[in-house]
Amino acid sequence: MIGIAILGATGSIGVSTLDVLSRYPDEYRVVALTAYRDARRLFEQCVQHRPDYAVLVNEEAATEFARWLEDSDLPTELLTGAQNLEKVAALASVDYVMAAIVGAAGLLPTLSAARAGKRILLANKESLVMSGKILLDEVRANDAELLPIDSEHNAIFQCLPSNFNKGLEQTGVTNILLTASGGPFRKLSLDQLQNVTPEQACAHPTWDMGRKISVDSATMMNKGLEVIEACWLFNTTTDKVQVVLHPQSVVHSMVQYADGSVLAQLGNPDMRTPIAHALAWPQRIDSGVKPLDIFTVARLDFEEPDIERFRCLGLAYQAMQRGGTAPTILNAANEVAVDSFLHNELSFVKIAEVIEACLDAVDIRDADELDSILDADRKAREKAMQIITAMNH
Ligand code: NAD
Ligand code: MG
Repeated sequence: MIGIAILGATGSIGVSTLDVLSRYPDEYRVVALTAYRDARRLFEQCVQHRPDYAVLVNEEAATEFARWLEDSDLPTELLTGAQNLEKVAALASVDYVMAAIVGAAGLLPTLSAARAGKRILLANKESLVMSGKILLDEVRANDAELLPIDSEHNAIFQCLPSNFNKGLEQTGVTNILLTASGGPFRKLSLDQLQNVTPEQACAHPTWDMGRKISVDSATMMNKGLEVIEACWLFNTTTDKVQVVLHPQSVVHSMVQYADGSVLAQLGNPDMRTPIAHALAWPQRIDSGVKPLDIFTVARLDFEEPDIERFRCLGLAYQAMQRGGTAPTILNAANEVAVDSFLHNELSFVKIAEVIEACLDAVDIRDADELDSILDADRKAREKAMQIITAMNH
């Protein structure tokens, strides 16, 4: 049996992962489930999957959970505090770690899984954006495996030759076509974007996701983070990664080869496909996803993105080209700005302004040490908060 820890079990990716796992009770065993503070949902998941460990980061939520646990016959040990995320990611009984925490909070637990040599199913793209070099170095040094869950990167992984690590050019790949739905505001003018609300931003036309990534999709920062993620995962540079708007979200990305071939991976927009792919790789298993009916899809559209309206995308390209801690600063400023937007404290179009101002204000350093990454993350958050406060006065 393969032992699995799911970091961020109560989120959108966590729930989809448990859905796939529940189809294979004899192959996979859930060893640990973690959440920030949704005690109710985590407890229900524990009742169904009976893990050895449950981690709730928030202490009040853990107190509530502890009461229910006492009245149950569960074999589960409850842990609390963020450091226990790192602990369960490295347990000897864990073979695979689903890294599905949202945001920078996912970095240390993902690094812990890498150091412990686990197969990492990486949904938490922010950890690669913040510290791609360090994470990949740890994966290599400890014989860990890193399989992309992000649908585009999972698609690219499926379309690349198996020796892509030698460098894309050496294997006949010319470039990557990273598809983007364009989010809920694809057709809005800059003027119309001024007054959009968090609820509108979170109503994604093709994917059902957590609130932070939904806003990122609406600003297209999600695609910007994914460009950076692709550069790290596939050992390439931003000039080889082209974003393609594709509103149907059926082609999950493409790889273009020197001989003129373009390979694509298609499927219904359902994260259980990449999750099942990474769980079973190199085998294939049923994920529960409906087969794609190509006749219902009927047509596939592709457009070039408008960087004027979606400034976040351009900022992400620039940050990656700049290198060092620039992507770390971009990511931190974005998390703070998105959180303010979700709390109605910042307008949608100002998200990009905050990030740009933050990239100008915070010193960009080398990104070879974890301490420099964490320091850049902290400074960028402080700066972003100052910028937002100043904007609101
Ligand atoms: P979500 O908001 O639905 O879930 C986030 C999970 O992380 C929850 O279990 C929550 O309890 C936990 N969490 C939040 N803050 C935490 C903290 N500070 N410490 C510990 N745990 C914390 O998010 P999601 O949509 O499932 O996305 C998770 C990750 O997967 C993100 O990095 C996102 O970019 C990536 N991703 C998601 C999708 C998708 O379809 N949802 C697709 C591609 C990539
Ligand atoms: Mg994606």
